[in-house]
Amino acid sequence: MIVDLHTHTRCSDGSLAPDELLSDAQAARVDILAVTDHDTTAAYRELLRTPIAGLKLIPGIEFSTESDGYGIHVLGLNIDTECDAMRAAVGFQSAARAERAEQIAQRLDKLGIENALSGAQAKAGSGAIGRPHFAQYMVDIGFVKSLEQAFKRYLGPGKLGDVKQMWASLPQIIEWIRDSKGTAVLAHPAKYKMTRSRRQRLIGTFAASGGQGLEVVSGRQDPELSASLAGEAATHGLAASLGSDFHHRNQPWASLGMPLRLPPNCRPIWDEW
Ligand code: AMP
Ligand code: MN
Ligand code: MN
Ligand code: MN
Repeated sequence: MIVDLHTHTRCSDGSLAPDELLSDAQAARVDILAVTDHDTTAAYRELLRTPIAGLKLIPGIEFSTESDGYGIHVLGLNIDTECDAMRAAVGFQSAARAERAEQIAQRLDKLGIENALSGAQAKAGSGAIGRPHFAQYMVDIGFVKSLEQAFKRYLGPGKLGDVKQMWASLPQIIEWIRDSKGTAVLAHPAKYKMTRSRRQRLIGTFAASGGQGLEVVSGRQDPELSASLAGEAATHGLAASLGSDFHHRNQPWASLGMPLRLPPNCRPIWDEW
């Protein structure tokens, strides 16, 4: 069975339209799919209208929040996208994202990057604006050579453009997800550039705040890390999730429906669905 519970469309920072993602998933023989755009469920306006035989679509979202000074991502899986709690969550986070984009642009302006807001907005189109769109604009104007360089120097953790203080709190995010009948999953726990002990502390805090799952496998990943995260999930009674974190075609380390496997002794989150 092929399960992919973490993917993006152009409604946030991915490059495929929702229906293109769905047909790619079908071609990759995905059995269970969650589309989890950053702080928006807009893709589901299209997706829920076009059911595909053999593919179980789980409504999802990837929320941005902050914990202990780190920018953290929390997946809401199997949510009711239309309920009051999810509308409130998406409304709050969208406003935060817009305000944050203005702040990022102001900061980049100080570096001599003009019109960053309109430049990034043009890249985002009607989707949720984020740092990848600023990075694309910075590449376009020749300020940096690559997206990687833009993040490494200006937008990544601890850099000038890393604005994270407007997001709703971790407990609030978890509450919104649970009130939407969804399951709150801590996304890609190994990608926050934390020490192992800090990561373990984060997982403990997440579980104590009502979090229900841990993304034990995220894209191409060292099996030793997967085993270690599976142990941390078990310690805190968290179910295990997995996903590619697909954004773009031709990125083999995060490709849609890539064959991912949970280590033994995990409780797969999709067992409850
Ligand atoms: P934001 O939602 O604005 O906080 O932007 C976070 C997104 O930026 C992540 O979900 C990734 O898709 C992308 N990202 C993070 N780090 C990098 C990087 N080093 N290079 C390219 N994209 C990145
Ligand atoms: Mn992203
Ligand atoms: Mn993420
Ligand atoms: Mn993601």
